[in-house]
Amino acid sequence: MSEATKRCSKCREEKPLSAFTRDCTKTTGYHSHCKDCRRIWRAERNEAGQTNNYRMVKRWRDKHREHWLAVDREKMRRYRARQRAEREEAS
Ligand SMILES: [Zn+2]
Repeated sequence: MSEATKRCSKCREEKPLSAFTRDCTKTTGYHSHCKDCRRIWRAERNEAGQTNNYRMVKRWRDKHREHWLAVDREKMRRYRARQRAEREEAS
């Protein structure tokens, strides 16, 4: 009994399907790159500044966290007040 294999389009190696991540958007149901290649590709991309960008976004969000929480609270307060007003109107 042989396990189904698939050729990685990056390293050109024939590998078992378990070496590929599933991807339902692909017709084959699997990624065209094996897990190893994807890991390398991700690491390279991270080095190219993706992580930096992510950290910056995170820092920005943390910095303005209080502000956004306040905005949310205010929205919720208005929403509740409106609901209450509507209920009172109906009764
Ligand atoms: Zn590969």
